[in-house]
Amino acid sequence: MPMPSDVSWADVLWIDTGSVNVYLCRDTDGFTLIDTATPGKADLIFARLAEWGGEPTDLKRIVITHADLDHAGSAAELQSRSGATVHAGAATAALLVEGRSPRHMPQPVQFLIDRFVRYKRVDRGAIRPLGDGDELPVLGGLRVLAAPGHTSEQHALYSPAAGVLFAADALNTRDDRLQLTPRRITADQAAAERTAIQLLQLSPAVIACGHGAPLVDGGAAMGDLLARLAALRENKL
Ligand SMILES: [Zn+2]
Repeated sequence: MPMPSDVSWADVLWIDTGSVNVYLCRDTDGFTLIDTATPGKADLIFARLAEWGGEPTDLKRIVITHADLDHAGSAAELQSRSGATVHAGAATAALLVEGRSPRHMPQPVQFLIDRFVRYKRVDRGAIRPLGDGDELPVLGGLRVLAAPGHTSEQHALYSPAAGVLFAADALNTRDDRLQLTPRRITADQAAAERTAIQLLQLSPAVIACGHGAPLVDGGAAMGDLLARLAALRENKL
């Protein structure tokens, strides 16, 4: 693992796959991918890895923040072609091995997803459990943070050394604005608001979100959102 002072946002490659972002972290012992996009994106991700001089087998770890199709869809293909370990929370891992997504959509969309939406199953033997408080040897120490709300289990990842927060769907910059995932596709709104407050209080230099461009040096936008969330909580008390 490199010295913490040596890592930065420059060691993270942002890959915009269209509807969702994935992030490739560069370390001396190989690469770590945060999320995997929709099914069929493995070639694109390996092509971007090659731009950084990496072979598929240089991909050592794949972290899945939550098991939604747009985050876990290419996990099985990326894993089988690289031999990487897949790191996921217990509930997420249980869905990965079935190729299913967690339930958090409005009916009748949820009904259709339950019936028809599957992605390729991830090999159970490749999965390593991950949970709140764990630390991965990535970017000078990548802390695993429980980030429930959008889905009942979701994990964010934070590298204090690089100042980068991988927020998954706890925060996004859709419509050029830092915000939470829309309420209609949020499993637990109160938990989502608590999670957002906890993540914003880290004051990361970069918020690498699942959707929308990463927010770099977004102190003002973070302060605004934190104030809005704090006001919401006051009103509820
Ligand atoms: Zn998403």
